[in-house]
Amino acid sequence: MQDRNIDVLVIGAGPSGSVSSAYLNKLGYKVIVLEKMKFPRFVIGESLLPHCMDHLDAVGFLPAVKEHGFQIKNGAAFYKGEQQLNFFFNEQHTKGWTWTWQVKRADFDNILIKEAQKQGVEVHFECEVTSVNCSKEKQVVTYKDSSGKEFTIVAKYIIDASGYGRVLPRFFNLEESVQTPPRGAVFSHIHDTKRTAESGENIFIHSFNNNTAWIWAIPFSDKTTSVGIVSDKAYIEELAANNGENFLNHIRTFKDLKGRFSDERLVFEPRTVLGYAARAKQLFGDGYTLCGNSTEFLDPVFSSGVTLATGSGLMAAQLTHRQLSGEKVDWLREYEEVLRKGIDVFRSFVLGWYNGDVQRIFFASEIQDDFKRQICSVLAGYVWDESNPMVKKHKTAIKALAQVLEIKAKV
Ligand code: FAD
Repeated sequence: MQDRNIDVLVIGAGPSGSVSSAYLNKLGYKVIVLEKMKFPRFVIGESLLPHCMDHLDAVGFLPAVKEHGFQIKNGAAFYKGEQQLNFFFNEQHTKGWTWTWQVKRADFDNILIKEAQKQGVEVHFECEVTSVNCSKEKQVVTYKDSSGKEFTIVAKYIIDASGYGRVLPRFFNLEESVQTPPRGAVFSHIHDTKRTAESGENIFIHSFNNNTAWIWAIPFSDKTTSVGIVSDKAYIEELAANNGENFLNHIRTFKDLKGRFSDERLVFEPRTVLGYAARAKQLFGDGYTLCGNSTEFLDPVFSSGVTLATGSGLMAAQLTHRQLSGEKVDWLREYEEVLRKGIDVFRSFVLGWYNGDVQRIFFASEIQDDFKRQICSVLAGYVWDESNPMVKKHKTAIKALAQVLEIKAKV
Protein backbone atom coordinates (compact mmCIF):
# COMPACT_ATOMS: atom_id res chain seq x y z
CA MET A 1 0.00 0.00 0.00
CA GLN A 2 1.19 3.55 -0.78
CA ASP A 3 2.30 5.81 2.12
CA ARG A 4 -0.12 8.63 2.90
CA ASN A 5 1.17 12.19 2.57
CA ILE A 6 -0.33 14.76 4.92
CA ASP A 7 0.50 18.13 6.46
CA VAL A 8 0.54 17.44 10.20
CA LEU A 9 0.58 14.23 12.21
CA VAL A 10 -0.46 14.55 15.85
CA ILE A 11 0.47 11.73 18.24
CA GLY A 12 -2.17 11.30 20.97
CA ALA A 13 -5.80 12.39 21.37
CA GLY A 14 -5.64 13.91 24.88
CA PRO A 15 -6.41 17.62 25.45
CA SER A 16 -3.14 18.80 23.86
CA GLY A 17 -3.70 16.63 20.77
CA SER A 18 -7.34 17.70 20.36
CA VAL A 19 -6.60 21.41 20.64
CA SER A 20 -3.55 21.39 18.34
CA SER A 21 -5.21 19.24 15.66
CA ALA A 22 -8.44 21.29 15.65
CA TYR A 23 -6.54 24.57 15.35
CA LEU A 24 -4.55 23.41 12.31
CA ASN A 25 -7.56 21.75 10.71
CA LYS A 26 -9.47 25.05 10.90
CA LEU A 27 -6.66 26.67 8.89
CA GLY A 28 -7.11 24.10 6.13
CA TYR A 29 -4.24 21.70 6.86
CA LYS A 30 -4.68 17.96 6.43
CA VAL A 31 -4.23 16.68 9.97
CA ILE A 32 -4.27 13.11 11.25
CA VAL A 33 -4.33 12.15 14.94
CA LEU A 34 -3.07 8.68 15.88
CA GLU A 35 -4.28 7.51 19.30
CA LYS A 36 -3.10 4.33 20.96
CA MET A 37 -6.22 3.75 23.07
CA LYS A 38 -9.89 3.22 22.39
CA PHE A 39 -11.87 6.27 23.64
CA PRO A 40 -13.40 7.00 26.09
CA ARG A 41 -10.44 6.01 28.24
CA PHE A 42 -9.56 6.80 31.85
CA VAL A 43 -6.79 9.25 32.66
CA ILE A 44 -6.14 11.11 35.91
CA GLY A 45 -6.20 14.95 35.98
CA GLU A 46 -9.73 16.09 36.66
CA SER A 47 -9.61 19.63 37.95
CA LEU A 48 -9.19 22.26 35.22
CA LEU A 49 -7.95 25.85 35.59
CA PRO A 50 -9.84 28.87 34.23
CA HIS A 51 -7.12 29.74 31.68
CA CYS A 52 -7.80 26.51 29.79
CA MET A 53 -11.22 27.99 28.86
CA ASP A 54 -9.34 30.48 26.64
CA HIS A 55 -7.69 27.57 24.82
CA LEU A 56 -10.90 25.57 24.43
CA ASP A 57 -12.64 28.70 23.17
CA ALA A 58 -9.93 29.33 20.55
CA VAL A 59 -10.82 26.06 18.82
CA GLY A 60 -14.59 26.23 19.32
CA PHE A 61 -14.81 23.40 21.89
CA LEU A 62 -16.67 25.29 24.64
CA PRO A 63 -20.31 24.71 23.53
CA ALA A 64 -19.84 20.93 23.36
CA VAL A 65 -18.16 20.80 26.76
CA LYS A 66 -20.84 23.07 28.28
CA GLU A 67 -23.58 20.82 26.97
CA HIS A 68 -22.25 17.86 28.95
CA GLY A 69 -22.98 19.57 32.29
CA PHE A 70 -19.67 19.03 34.07
CA GLN A 71 -19.27 20.31 37.63
CA ILE A 72 -18.60 24.05 37.66
CA LYS A 73 -15.45 25.04 39.54
CA ASN A 74 -15.15 28.66 40.67
CA GLY A 75 -12.33 28.33 43.17
CA ALA A 76 -10.19 26.01 45.27
CA ALA A 77 -9.86 25.46 49.01
CA PHE A 78 -6.70 24.52 50.90
CA TYR A 79 -6.66 23.08 54.43
CA LYS A 80 -4.08 22.19 57.03
CA GLY A 81 -5.44 21.03 60.38
CA GLU A 82 -7.92 23.68 61.44
CA GLN A 83 -6.49 26.29 59.05
CA GLN A 84 -8.21 27.00 55.76
CA LEU A 85 -7.85 29.30 52.75
CA ASN A 86 -10.42 29.68 50.01
CA PHE A 87 -9.58 31.12 46.62
CA PHE A 88 -12.35 32.33 44.31
CA PHE A 89 -11.47 33.01 40.69
CA ASN A 90 -13.60 36.18 40.59
CA GLU A 91 -11.07 37.69 43.00
CA GLN A 92 -8.05 37.67 40.72
CA HIS A 93 -5.26 40.00 39.65
CA THR A 94 -5.51 38.96 35.98
CA LYS A 95 -8.63 39.75 33.98
CA GLY A 96 -9.62 36.32 32.78
CA TRP A 97 -12.07 33.48 33.20
CA THR A 98 -13.58 33.26 36.66
CA TRP A 99 -14.66 29.64 36.45
CA THR A 100 -14.01 26.33 34.78
CA TRP A 101 -14.97 22.67 35.31
CA GLN A 102 -14.12 19.55 37.27
CA VAL A 103 -14.32 16.72 34.77
CA LYS A 104 -14.18 12.97 34.46
CA ARG A 105 -11.42 12.86 31.91
CA ALA A 106 -12.82 9.86 30.04
CA ASP A 107 -15.85 11.99 29.12
CA PHE A 108 -14.03 15.30 28.75
CA ASP A 109 -11.24 14.00 26.49
CA ASN A 110 -13.79 12.08 24.43
CA ILE A 111 -15.85 15.24 23.89
CA LEU A 112 -12.79 17.22 22.79
CA ILE A 113 -11.55 14.69 20.24
CA LYS A 114 -15.08 14.04 18.93
CA GLU A 115 -15.43 17.79 18.43
CA ALA A 116 -12.13 17.89 16.54
CA GLN A 117 -13.41 15.00 14.39
CA LYS A 118 -16.67 16.87 13.72
CA GLN A 119 -14.62 19.83 12.55
CA GLY A 120 -12.79 17.57 10.07
CA VAL A 121 -9.74 16.13 11.85
CA GLU A 122 -9.09 12.51 10.87
CA VAL A 123 -8.55 10.43 14.02
CA HIS A 124 -7.44 6.80 14.19
CA PHE A 125 -8.00 5.14 17.56
CA GLU A 126 -6.17 2.03 18.72
CA CYS A 127 -3.26 2.99 16.53
CA GLU A 128 0.10 3.07 18.27
CA VAL A 129 3.01 5.03 16.85
CA THR A 130 5.96 2.64 16.76
CA SER A 131 8.68 4.59 14.94
CA VAL A 132 9.37 8.15 13.84
CA ASN A 133 12.02 9.45 11.49
CA CYS A 134 12.32 13.24 11.38
CA SER A 135 14.32 15.52 9.10
CA LYS A 136 14.12 19.06 7.72
CA GLU A 137 12.33 17.77 4.60
CA LYS A 138 9.82 15.14 5.75
CA GLN A 139 8.69 13.12 8.74
CA VAL A 140 8.04 9.41 8.39
CA VAL A 141 5.84 7.78 11.00
CA THR A 142 5.05 4.09 11.35
CA TYR A 143 2.15 2.85 13.42
CA LYS A 144 0.30 -0.35 14.02
CA ASP A 145 -3.44 -0.82 14.45
CA SER A 146 -5.20 -3.11 16.93
CA SER A 147 -4.72 -6.12 14.64
CA GLY A 148 -0.97 -5.48 14.52
CA LYS A 149 -1.01 -4.33 10.90
CA GLU A 150 1.66 -1.70 10.12
CA PHE A 151 1.13 1.56 8.22
CA THR A 152 3.31 4.52 7.26
CA ILE A 153 2.39 8.19 7.07
CA VAL A 154 4.61 10.92 5.66
CA ALA A 155 3.95 14.33 7.19
CA LYS A 156 5.42 17.79 6.83
CA TYR A 157 5.35 18.25 10.59
CA ILE A 158 4.74 16.24 13.77
CA ILE A 159 3.20 17.38 17.03
CA ASP A 160 3.90 14.97 19.86
CA ALA A 161 0.90 15.18 22.20
CA SER A 162 1.41 11.69 23.61
CA GLY A 163 1.30 12.73 27.30
CA TYR A 164 2.59 10.06 29.65
CA GLY A 165 3.49 7.98 26.55
CA ARG A 166 6.33 10.49 25.89
CA VAL A 167 6.80 9.07 22.41
CA LEU A 168 9.36 11.46 20.90
CA PRO A 169 11.28 12.07 24.15
CA ARG A 170 11.79 8.28 24.30
CA PHE A 171 12.53 7.76 20.58
CA PHE A 172 14.88 10.74 20.34
CA ASN A 173 16.56 10.33 23.71
CA LEU A 174 15.30 13.67 25.02
CA GLU A 175 14.53 12.55 28.57
CA GLU A 176 16.14 14.59 31.32
CA SER A 177 16.19 13.65 35.00
CA VAL A 178 13.88 15.62 37.28
CA GLN A 179 15.11 17.35 40.42
CA THR A 180 12.11 16.62 42.64
CA PRO A 181 11.99 13.45 44.78
CA PRO A 182 9.92 10.62 43.26
CA ARG A 183 6.30 10.96 44.34
CA GLY A 184 3.16 9.05 43.55
CA ALA A 185 -0.59 9.03 44.05
CA VAL A 186 -3.24 6.56 45.09
CA PHE A 187 -6.83 7.47 44.25
CA SER A 188 -10.34 6.33 43.59
CA HIS A 189 -13.77 7.68 42.61
CA ILE A 190 -16.38 7.36 45.33
CA HIS A 191 -20.11 7.97 45.80
CA ASP A 192 -20.02 11.22 47.77
CA THR A 193 -23.29 10.95 49.67
CA LYS A 194 -22.35 13.43 52.41
CA ARG A 195 -21.74 16.37 50.09
CA THR A 196 -23.74 19.42 51.16
CA ALA A 197 -24.16 22.93 49.80
CA GLU A 198 -22.17 24.13 52.80
CA SER A 199 -19.23 21.81 52.08
CA GLY A 200 -19.07 23.31 48.59
CA GLU A 201 -18.40 21.74 45.24
CA ASN A 202 -14.95 23.10 44.43
CA ILE A 203 -11.79 21.03 44.66
CA PHE A 204 -10.30 20.92 48.14
CA ILE A 205 -6.85 19.93 49.28
CA HIS A 206 -5.75 18.88 52.78
CA SER A 207 -2.08 19.03 53.64
CA PHE A 208 -0.77 16.58 56.25
CA ASN A 209 2.37 14.74 57.44
CA ASN A 210 4.38 17.94 57.80
CA ASN A 211 3.92 19.20 54.19
CA THR A 212 4.94 15.86 52.64
CA ALA A 213 1.47 14.55 51.82
CA TRP A 214 -1.90 15.89 50.74
CA ILE A 215 -5.38 14.65 49.97
CA TRP A 216 -7.39 15.89 47.03
CA ALA A 217 -11.16 15.77 46.64
CA ILE A 218 -12.64 16.78 43.29
CA PRO A 219 -16.43 16.66 43.30
CA PHE A 220 -18.19 15.79 40.00
CA SER A 221 -21.67 16.79 38.89
CA ASP A 222 -23.04 13.22 39.21
CA LYS A 223 -22.41 13.24 43.00
CA THR A 224 -19.34 11.09 42.75
CA THR A 225 -15.97 12.54 43.80
CA SER A 226 -12.38 11.83 42.92
CA VAL A 227 -10.32 11.37 46.09
CA GLY A 228 -6.59 10.76 46.16
CA ILE A 229 -3.43 11.10 48.20
CA VAL A 230 -0.10 12.32 46.88
CA SER A 231 3.13 11.76 48.77
CA ASP A 232 6.59 10.23 48.50
CA LYS A 233 6.84 6.86 46.78
CA ALA A 234 7.33 4.77 49.94
CA TYR A 235 4.25 6.17 51.69
CA ILE A 236 2.10 5.78 48.57
CA GLU A 237 3.18 2.16 48.23
CA GLU A 238 2.20 1.60 51.86
CA LEU A 239 -1.21 3.21 51.30
CA ALA A 240 -1.75 1.30 48.07
CA ALA A 241 -0.97 -2.19 49.45
CA ASN A 242 -3.84 -4.73 49.60
CA ASN A 243 -6.02 -2.94 47.06
CA GLY A 244 -5.56 0.40 48.75
CA GLU A 245 -6.71 -0.78 52.20
CA ASN A 246 -4.63 1.83 54.09
CA PHE A 247 -5.65 4.56 51.65
CA LEU A 248 -9.34 3.85 52.23
CA ASN A 249 -8.85 3.70 55.99
CA HIS A 250 -7.04 7.00 55.84
CA ILE A 251 -9.72 8.90 53.93
CA ARG A 252 -12.46 7.33 56.05
CA THR A 253 -10.88 8.28 59.37
CA PHE A 254 -8.63 11.31 58.69
CA LYS A 255 -9.95 13.75 61.28
CA ASP A 256 -9.65 16.90 59.16
CA LEU A 257 -12.10 15.43 56.63
CA LYS A 258 -14.65 15.30 59.45
CA GLY A 259 -16.22 12.04 58.33
CA ARG A 260 -17.03 13.26 54.80
CA PHE A 261 -15.84 9.94 53.32
CA SER A 262 -16.38 7.74 56.39
CA ASP A 263 -18.44 4.97 54.78
CA GLU A 264 -18.49 5.64 51.08
CA ARG A 265 -18.98 3.16 48.27
CA LEU A 266 -16.29 3.02 45.62
CA VAL A 267 -16.95 3.59 41.93
CA PHE A 268 -13.69 1.75 41.23
CA GLU A 269 -10.97 0.11 43.30
CA PRO A 270 -8.06 2.40 44.28
CA ARG A 271 -5.44 2.87 41.58
CA THR A 272 -1.82 3.98 41.88
CA VAL A 273 0.54 6.06 39.74
CA LEU A 274 4.19 6.41 40.70
CA GLY A 275 7.09 8.51 39.47
CA TYR A 276 5.06 10.59 37.02
CA ALA A 277 7.35 13.63 37.07
CA ALA A 278 9.25 13.85 33.77
CA ARG A 279 10.98 16.43 31.64
CA ALA A 280 12.31 16.66 28.09
CA LYS A 281 15.62 18.49 27.68
CA GLN A 282 14.50 20.00 24.38
CA LEU A 283 10.95 20.71 23.18
CA PHE A 284 11.43 20.80 19.41
CA GLY A 285 13.68 19.59 16.62
CA ASP A 286 13.74 19.28 12.84
CA GLY A 287 10.16 18.62 11.78
CA TYR A 288 8.63 18.17 15.22
CA THR A 289 7.55 19.79 18.42
CA LEU A 290 6.38 18.44 21.78
CA CYS A 291 3.39 19.71 23.73
CA GLY A 292 1.41 18.80 26.86
CA ASN A 293 2.85 16.25 29.25
CA SER A 294 5.41 15.07 26.75
CA THR A 295 7.27 18.34 27.43
CA GLU A 296 7.29 18.10 31.21
CA PHE A 297 5.08 17.08 34.11
CA LEU A 298 5.85 18.41 37.51
CA ASP A 299 3.30 17.70 40.18
CA PRO A 300 -0.49 17.71 40.44
CA VAL A 301 -0.92 19.94 43.52
CA PHE A 302 -2.04 23.04 41.60
CA SER A 303 -3.99 21.20 38.85
CA SER A 304 -1.84 22.73 36.14
CA GLY A 305 -1.46 19.72 33.78
CA VAL A 306 -4.44 20.06 31.45
CA THR A 307 -4.13 23.84 31.21
CA LEU A 308 -0.44 23.58 30.29
CA ALA A 309 -1.43 20.84 27.80
CA THR A 310 -4.14 22.91 26.05
CA GLY A 311 -1.99 26.06 26.18
CA SER A 312 1.10 24.39 24.74
CA GLY A 313 -1.03 22.54 22.16
CA LEU A 314 -2.43 25.84 20.95
CA MET A 315 0.96 27.56 20.95
CA ALA A 316 2.59 24.65 19.09
CA ALA A 317 -0.17 24.66 16.46
CA GLN A 318 0.08 28.44 15.90
CA LEU A 319 3.83 28.18 15.31
CA THR A 320 3.45 25.08 13.12
CA HIS A 321 1.09 27.10 10.93
CA ARG A 322 3.65 29.88 10.60
CA GLN A 323 6.38 27.40 9.74
CA LEU A 324 4.25 25.60 7.16
CA SER A 325 3.37 28.99 5.65
CA GLY A 326 7.07 29.47 4.92
CA GLU A 327 7.97 31.78 7.81
CA LYS A 328 11.15 31.21 9.78
CA VAL A 329 10.14 30.26 13.32
CA ASP A 330 12.58 30.59 16.19
CA TRP A 331 11.28 27.58 18.15
CA LEU A 332 13.68 28.12 21.04
CA ARG A 333 12.72 31.71 21.67
CA GLU A 334 9.12 31.69 20.53
CA TYR A 335 8.07 28.31 21.93
CA GLU A 336 10.42 26.57 24.34
CA GLU A 337 11.40 29.64 26.35
CA VAL A 338 7.83 30.92 26.50
CA LEU A 339 6.39 27.59 27.57
CA ARG A 340 9.13 26.97 30.14
CA LYS A 341 8.45 30.41 31.62
CA GLY A 342 4.89 29.39 32.49
CA ILE A 343 5.95 25.95 33.70
CA ASP A 344 8.62 27.58 35.88
CA VAL A 345 6.02 29.74 37.66
CA PHE A 346 4.19 26.57 38.65
CA ARG A 347 7.54 24.98 39.55
CA SER A 348 8.21 27.76 42.09
CA PHE A 349 4.78 27.23 43.63
CA VAL A 350 5.18 23.44 43.69
CA LEU A 351 8.63 23.63 45.30
CA GLY A 352 7.24 26.22 47.73
CA TRP A 353 4.33 23.90 48.58
CA TYR A 354 6.62 21.06 49.62
CA ASN A 355 9.28 23.19 51.34
CA GLY A 356 6.53 24.86 53.36
CA ASP A 357 6.76 28.47 52.06
CA VAL A 358 3.50 28.36 50.09
CA GLN A 359 1.73 26.70 52.99
CA ARG A 360 3.09 29.36 55.37
CA ILE A 361 1.49 31.95 53.09
CA PHE A 362 -1.80 30.09 52.61
CA PHE A 363 -2.26 29.39 56.29
CA ALA A 364 -0.98 32.68 57.69
CA SER A 365 -3.62 34.35 59.83
CA GLU A 366 -3.56 37.43 57.66
CA ILE A 367 -2.81 37.62 53.94
CA GLN A 368 -3.27 40.91 52.14
CA ASP A 369 -5.92 41.03 49.43
CA ASP A 370 -3.45 42.10 46.73
CA PHE A 371 -1.17 39.14 47.35
CA LYS A 372 -4.10 36.78 47.49
CA ARG A 373 -5.39 38.04 44.12
CA GLN A 374 -1.95 37.63 42.57
CA ILE A 375 -1.64 34.08 43.86
CA CYS A 376 -5.19 33.35 42.75
CA SER A 377 -4.29 34.25 39.15
CA VAL A 378 -1.42 31.77 39.22
CA LEU A 379 -3.84 29.14 40.54
CA ALA A 380 -6.19 30.08 37.67
CA GLY A 381 -3.40 29.27 35.21
CA TYR A 382 -2.55 32.83 34.11
CA VAL A 383 1.17 32.17 34.46
CA TRP A 384 2.21 34.32 31.49
CA ASP A 385 0.76 37.56 32.85
CA GLU A 386 3.91 39.55 33.60
CA SER A 387 1.88 42.34 35.22
CA ASN A 388 1.44 39.91 38.11
CA PRO A 389 4.39 40.17 40.55
CA MET A 390 3.78 36.54 41.59
CA VAL A 391 4.46 35.62 37.95
CA LYS A 392 7.22 38.08 37.17
CA LYS A 393 9.18 37.51 40.37
CA HIS A 394 8.02 33.99 41.16
CA LYS A 395 11.49 32.78 42.10
CA THR A 396 11.86 35.23 44.99
CA ALA A 397 8.33 36.47 45.74
CA ILE A 398 7.06 33.33 47.46
CA LYS A 399 9.95 33.02 49.89
CA ALA A 400 9.92 36.77 50.62
CA LEU A 401 6.19 36.82 51.34
CA ALA A 402 6.41 33.67 53.49
CA GLN A 403 9.16 35.29 55.58
CA VAL A 404 7.26 38.55 56.03
CA LEU A 405 4.12 36.71 57.12
CA GLU A 406 6.12 34.56 59.51
CA ILE A 407 7.80 37.59 61.12
CA LYS A 408 4.40 39.31 61.42
CA ALA A 409 2.95 36.25 63.09
CA LYS A 410 5.75 36.30 65.69
CA VAL A 411 5.39 39.98 66.70
P1 FAD B 1 -2.71 12.78 27.88
O1 FAD B 1 -3.98 13.27 28.46
O2 FAD B 1 -1.90 11.82 28.67
O3 FAD B 1 -3.02 12.17 26.44
C1 FAD B 1 -1.99 11.59 25.66
C2 FAD B 1 -2.58 10.53 24.73
O4 FAD B 1 -1.53 10.00 23.92
C3 FAD B 1 -3.19 9.35 25.48
O5 FAD B 1 -4.55 9.19 25.15
C4 FAD B 1 -2.33 8.16 25.05
O6 FAD B 1 -3.07 6.97 24.89
C5 FAD B 1 -1.76 8.63 23.71
N1 FAD B 1 -0.52 7.93 23.35
C6 FAD B 1 0.51 7.61 24.18
N2 FAD B 1 1.47 6.93 23.50
C7 FAD B 1 1.03 6.82 22.22
C8 FAD B 1 1.56 6.20 21.04
N3 FAD B 1 2.73 5.55 21.03
N4 FAD B 1 0.84 6.28 19.89
C9 FAD B 1 -0.37 6.92 19.87
N5 FAD B 1 -0.92 7.51 20.98
C10 FAD B 1 -0.23 7.46 22.12
N6 FAD B 1 -3.93 17.92 35.58
C11 FAD B 1 -4.89 18.83 35.76
O7 FAD B 1 -5.04 19.73 34.94
N7 FAD B 1 -5.71 18.80 36.86
C12 FAD B 1 -5.59 17.85 37.82
O8 FAD B 1 -6.35 17.84 38.79
C13 FAD B 1 -4.55 16.88 37.67
N8 FAD B 1 -4.40 15.90 38.57
C14 FAD B 1 -3.41 14.97 38.40
C15 FAD B 1 -3.21 14.00 39.39
C16 FAD B 1 -2.18 13.09 39.26
C17 FAD B 1 -1.95 12.07 40.33
C18 FAD B 1 -1.34 13.12 38.10
C19 FAD B 1 -0.22 12.13 37.94
C20 FAD B 1 -1.56 14.07 37.11
C21 FAD B 1 -2.57 15.00 37.24
N9 FAD B 1 -2.80 15.98 36.27
C22 FAD B 1 -3.74 16.94 36.48
C23 FAD B 1 -1.99 16.05 35.04
C24 FAD B 1 -2.74 15.50 33.82
O9 FAD B 1 -2.98 14.12 34.00
C25 FAD B 1 -1.91 15.69 32.55
O10 FAD B 1 -1.17 16.87 32.63
C26 FAD B 1 -2.75 15.76 31.25
O11 FAD B 1 -3.50 14.60 31.13
C27 FAD B 1 -1.83 15.98 30.05
O12 FAD B 1 -2.59 15.98 28.87
P2 FAD B 1 -1.88 15.58 27.50
O13 FAD B 1 -2.82 15.97 26.40
O14 FAD B 1 -0.51 16.09 27.44
O15 FAD B 1 -1.72 13.98 27.55
